[in-house]
Amino acid sequence: MAYVIAEPCIGVKDKACVDVCPMDCIHGTDADAMLYIDPEECIDCDACVPVCPVEAIFSEAQVPEKWQHFIRVNSDYFKGNK
Ligand code: SF4
Repeated sequence: MAYVIAEPCIGVKDKACVDVCPMDCIHGTDADAMLYIDPEECIDCDACVPVCPVEAIFSEAQVPEKWQHFIRVNSDYFKGNK
């Protein structure tokens, strides 16, 4: 299990989540549309959820149906990026 960033982050990238994440597992460059959580590093601490101004972050089990594909979008970002 891991936490997942979904569509509301696109074009926002507030980065408050990056500051509070104890694992430094939220990544994204200026060129990326959004930020992504590394599912292999995330420890499900929930610290990122309340600081997100656009409510873009969910635990994997609670990702809304319409944004289920973001589970894959987040994990795919780290494939070949390590
Ligand atoms: Fe980082 Fe915790 Fe959010 Fe996972 S749940 S991305 S470890 S702040």
